[in-house]
Amino acid sequence: EELGEQLRKQHRLHVQGSDVPAPAATFDELSGRLGVRTQIVDNLRAAGYFEPTPVQMQAVPVMLERRELLACAPTGSGKTAAYLVPVLQHLREPRNAGCRALILAPSRELARQIALEASRLATGTGLRVRCLDKAKRAADGTPRPVSQKYDLLVSTPNRLIYLLDAEPPLVSLRTVEWLVVDESDKLFEAGERGFREQLGRIYSACDSAQVRRALFSATFAHDVDQWCRLNLDNVVTVSVGQKNT
Ligand code: ADP
Ligand code: MG
Repeated sequence: EELGEQLRKQHRLHVQGSDVPAPAATFDELSGRLGVRTQIVDNLRAAGYFEPTPVQMQAVPVMLERRELLACAPTGSGKTAAYLVPVLQHLREPRNAGCRALILAPSRELARQIALEASRLATGTGLRVRCLDKAKRAADGTPRPVSQKYDLLVSTPNRLIYLLDAEPPLVSLRTVEWLVVDESDKLFEAGERGFREQLGRIYSACDSAQVRRALFSATFAHDVDQWCRLNLDNVVTVSVGQKNT
């Protein structure tokens, strides 16, 4: 505990919430103490990463405990891997049973980058990643339903709502166990009330009893924070850098 506090101070990590697990300072700790599969840790190293960034140190142990999370850390601080590592760990084996992890991003370009990083970190696990950036169409031009064979989907909220609204729906979120909202500050900003409505609809479509949620952003936004306190279960908040007031 003492050591955990020291690490947080050293890396300017601020946490709120009950029983927040200690940060993991090294990749060896991830595969050792925290039980992350060596394949995933090997993939981090193969990507040229040598140690976790501060947000990864704290967010990974929190999500490995299936705690709901709001994490704020500057642009370029490695937030993508911070949620992909625990999500990939929880997905374990590929299943042909529908999407079990859903990542939302504000733009298609970002969604593609996230899907690329996810495929890279999933190397050798057999897990399948798909970016919902364009419709797959049948020979007659009608959009095809999203195949059940993907373990992890990445999408913009708009694209997903379009697929959910089709008659019959072209995607099912009933098997989603992790819902991650990336750049949640931008989504809240750009969509204003609209995005909150979309998010609410996406949440209710993820109607599995064990769905867990995590929001990531570059800036601490009070509206996002308030939304999380209201809507998430026993939320942990993590922020890196200057303590926001
Ligand atoms: P953010 O989402 O916080 O803006 P990204 O996840 O896009 O940051 O990561 C920014 C860059 O840092 C990317 O090029 C990524 O590959 C790299 N990166 C991520 N984690 C690490 C790490 N542990 N060590 C070194 N580089 C990393
Ligand atoms: Mg990012």
